[in-house]
Amino acid sequence: MSKSFAAWVVDKATDKSDAANGGGVRELTTDDLPPVDGPSVLIEVECSSLNYKDALACQGHPGVVNRFPHVPGIDCAGRVLESDSASFAPDDPVLVTGYDLGAARWGGYSGLVRVPADWPVSIKDRLSPAQAMAYGTAGFTAAQCVMAVQRCVEPGRGDVLVTGATGGVGVYAVAILAKLGYRVVAVTGKPAQADTLRGLGAAEVVGRDVLEGESDAPLLSERWAAAVDTVGGAPLATLVRSIRHRGVVAACGLVAGAELPLTVYPFILRGVTLAGVDSAKCPREPRLEVWRRLSGPWRVDLPQELVDTVTLDELPDAVARILSGRHVGRTLVRPTSEAALR
Ligand code: NDP
Repeated sequence: MSKSFAAWVVDKATDKSDAANGGGVRELTTDDLPPVDGPSVLIEVECSSLNYKDALACQGHPGVVNRFPHVPGIDCAGRVLESDSASFAPDDPVLVTGYDLGAARWGGYSGLVRVPADWPVSIKDRLSPAQAMAYGTAGFTAAQCVMAVQRCVEPGRGDVLVTGATGGVGVYAVAILAKLGYRVVAVTGKPAQADTLRGLGAAEVVGRDVLEGESDAPLLSERWAAAVDTVGGAPLATLVRSIRHRGVVAACGLVAGAELPLTVYPFILRGVTLAGVDSAKCPREPRLEVWRRLSGPWRVDLPQELVDTVTLDELPDAVARILSGRHVGRTLVRPTSEAALR
């Protein structure tokens, strides 16, 4: 039977000043959901979350959205409503992150989501949908970055820098690294959040200028044993040039730029590893391992002030905040709308 629900639908691309004005809340029915080739699972979404990529999708950015109309939301959690798969039964709590969700396929800013049957991960007896989305793609990515650090550098080898520390990926990277015994130095452009970052486990909080104004030399003095970089661009290039012998930078983001002005010297003279981290296409086994850790030994429950919740009606303000770098922590998105009910 067809069911109706609210969703945020983007109809066109808008420019950066427009936040999320290329879209709006619309009432859809199950029949509107694009079909899946092969077995699928229909999920009743309890919450999704706001990631930088979602903010771009809300603007119809061509790097994320290739077809309109589009429903953003690169992750979601909720309960199975219908399943073609023996692995999932109605009412099972599940999460989905990545793959093509919220990009080539309609995403989680929607009361219902239909996905290929091999995308969901069970969260039964482990996480509530809200806890799963407090992590969301950001927590999943941070955990993969930490695993990349662990592969090269043990705790006690020196300071580990985390850039974009108040962002979604940053807060989890700081907290998990500290939990594992690393000495974490958090880089932030928001000095007012220093106490919050110390509360997560940062031993030191420094300004973004720690990675600015350095010389163009191919190698800088060795400072950091390892780093989790969420910003890319010139700060990442400075970071790679200041990593100590046999250290590692796990790089996942581009908020400060996509260019990487570097030479090969950090790699061939210091044995530095630049470990790229992607979340969308993470294979199934490591994906399940990350969620086992996040719901078990690496469990981090962010303090209340680092998690807020918005409805679909409140999305444009939240999107504007993340695009302007003012966002702190994690934002959950409930796929509900007062406006749609009126
Ligand atoms: P957020 O917007 O939540 O966090 C980014 C943080 O970076 C901001 O809070 C801010 O932290 C800092 N920042 C913002 N603008 C600048 C700037 N111009 N220069 C330096 N620092 C800046 O985003 P997320 O944490 O969700 O994502 C971070 C990055 O990781 C994004 O680029 C995102 O696309 C990417 N990402 C990649 C994934 C992958 O699969 N590779 C998956 C998930 C995210 P502060 O003020 O504390 O410095």
